[in-house]
Amino acid sequence: MTHFQEIIKKIPADVKLVVVTKTVPPEVIMDVYNAGHRRFGENKAQQLIARHPVLPPDIQWHFIGHLQTNKVRFIAPFVSMIESVDSFKLLKEINKEADKCGRSIPCLLQFHIAEEETKYGLDLQEAAAILESADFKALKNVSLRGVMGMATFTDDMDQVRTEFRKLKLIFNTLKERNFAGDPGFREISMGMSGDYEVAIEEGSTIVRIGSAIFS
Ligand SMILES: *Cc1c(COP(=O)(O)O)cnc(C)c1O
Repeated sequence: MTHFQEIIKKIPADVKLVVVTKTVPPEVIMDVYNAGHRRFGENKAQQLIARHPVLPPDIQWHFIGHLQTNKVRFIAPFVSMIESVDSFKLLKEINKEADKCGRSIPCLLQFHIAEEETKYGLDLQEAAAILESADFKALKNVSLRGVMGMATFTDDMDQVRTEFRKLKLIFNTLKERNFAGDPGFREISMGMSGDYEVAIEEGSTIVRIGSAIFS
């Protein structure tokens, strides 16, 4: 039994749900799959590499965690989106491995919007430096689709809302400066089990939900 049916009802049709599976056993993932869902997310490369071959091939896997460059080649052949691009080095490595697979990989730039020091992510200056470099313009095998961020883990929903607004503002700024003519740059991935309703109110287009579905 999962809470998938209750959660999916609360998500507007134009917001994409990534069901985050982490330690959930494959047979439980299959309950959600059999309910018709196809978009799943993992935050550990090892877990994704292990799961991909034993679960149905039409699952669209989103990678959502910190990704080491030496793991990119294992997920590049099949990953549907890498939401957690937090360095130029990583983006270049994704491009290189996608090229080897003869494909283009959709990616999001991850931004640091939380108060905690521990969360990975770029700031606007770092992103601007990447996007305005000649090296970036030469990348043919990555497709930037938007931004991703995690709010501070807190019950203070005013703080969470402020952080989501910050991500939306970053998205708007990049859209205007760097992606004005690109309709593909349109995703704002924000919102998890504890804060997805606030995230949707603040303009999220992708929510990543695990524990609210599987506990
Ligand atoms: C685990 C995780 C989620 C889902 O968190 P829940 O609170 O279980 O919904 C979303 N995004 C990232 C990056 C995660 O690591």
